Amino acid sequence: MFSEVLEKISWDDTTNRIYAKTDADVRRALGKEHCDVEDFMALISPAAEPYLEQMAALSRRYTEERFGKTISLFIPLYLTNSCTNSCVYCGFHISNPMPRTILTPAQMEDEYRAIKQLGPFENILLVTGENPAKAGVPYLAEALDLAKRYFDNIKIEVMPLATEEYAELVKHGLNGVVCFQETYNKARYNVYHPRGMKSKFEWRLNGFDRMGEAGVHSIGMGVLIGLEDWRTDVTMMAHHLRYMQRKYWRTRYSVNFPRMRPAENDGFQPNVVMSDSELAQLTFAMRIFDHDVDISYSTRETPYIRDNMATLGVTTMSAESKTDPGGYCTYPQALEQFHVSDERTAVEVFNRLRELGREPVWKDWDASFDFYRKNLTK
Ligand code: SF4
Repeated sequence: MFSEVLEKISWDDTTNRIYAKTDADVRRALGKEHCDVEDFMALISPAAEPYLEQMAALSRRYTEERFGKTISLFIPLYLTNSCTNSCVYCGFHISNPMPRTILTPAQMEDEYRAIKQLGPFENILLVTGENPAKAGVPYLAEALDLAKRYFDNIKIEVMPLATEEYAELVKHGLNGVVCFQETYNKARYNVYHPRGMKSKFEWRLNGFDRMGEAGVHSIGMGVLIGLEDWRTDVTMMAHHLRYMQRKYWRTRYSVNFPRMRPAENDGFQPNVVMSDSELAQLTFAMRIFDHDVDISYSTRETPYIRDNMATLGVTTMSAESKTDPGGYCTYPQALEQFHVSDERTAVEVFNRLRELGREPVWKDWDASFDFYRKNLTK
C-alpha cells in the first residue's frame, strides 16, 4: 500500500530539497525525455521560474504528441450535500446548519435530462459528500444504473470505498473514480480533517490502491492547493502517481490541482495562495514529468487561465458546472460547495476552445471499449 512508501519519504527533507534546486538542476530536467521525481522537483522549484516559456513550449509539444488537440469536456453532478465529515475548509461540513439534500432517483433523472439540454455531454462526474448510511454503495449503484441511460463515461467523486465496493460499482457501469488526498502532510492532515471517516489519513491514502485492485479504469488524483506548501504536496502526489502507474499499469490517470481562493469561504482562509504563474509552472512541470497523464482544470479557474492553458497542457475540463445538489434543475438556488469562476455555458466553452484551435470532445470513452480492453489484454 502507498502508505508504506510515503512513510519513508520525509516531508521536511523534500521541502528543503525543492527549495535548494539550482539552475543546473532545472536545465538538466529540461534536457531529459523522461523525468523522474527529482527532476519534477526542479521544475516546480523557484529556480525554474525563469524557464517558464521553455517549459510551456515543451509542455505543448508533449501534449500534442500524446493527445493531439483534443480537450475532453465533462460535467459534475452533485447528488447530495449531506456529509458526516468536518473538513474545516468546506461549507458542507457536518456542523454547518444548512438544509441537506439527497437527490431521489426521480430527481437524478431530471438532472441527467437537464444536463443533456446544456450540451451533448457523455462524460459525467457524480459527486457526493460522505454519508455512507444515506448515500452509500446501494445509492451510488442506483445513480449509476440511471446515469447509464444518458452517459457513456461515468465517474464518481465520493467517500473512499472498500475494494469490493469499488468492484461492485464497476458492475453498475462505473468507469472512473476521482479522489483528492487534499494534503499528503500526515502530521497536519487532521488539522483540516478533525472528525469523521475523512480524518483517517491512511484509509483515504490507500483508497487509491483499492481502486486499482478493483480494476477501476480511470483514477483521478489531486491535492487541494491552499493547505500546505503546494510544492511539497504535489511532489508527494508525483511519487504516488509513479507508484500507481507501476502497480496498476492498465489504469488511466488524471491529476487536478484545485486552488482555494482567499475570498471564497468566510470561515477558512488558505494558508498558501498559488498565483496564476505558479499554476502554469506546475501544469507544465506535470506534463514534462508525465506525457500521458490527463491534466484536468475545473470551473474554479477563470476563463482567462482555462483558455490559455487549454493550448499548453490541459486535456480535460469541466464546463457549466453547478456545485450544489440538483443545481441544474431541481434546486437551482441551493448552497454551493464552492463558487465557480468560469460561468460560461458549455456551448460557449466549446466554441471558445474551437476558436483557440482545440478539438473539444463530449465523448472520449464508450462502455464497449472496456470489453476490448479486458479481453484483448488477457
Ligand atoms: S470536503 Fe467533502 S468530505 Fe469534507 S465536509 Fe466537504 S463534502 Fe464533506
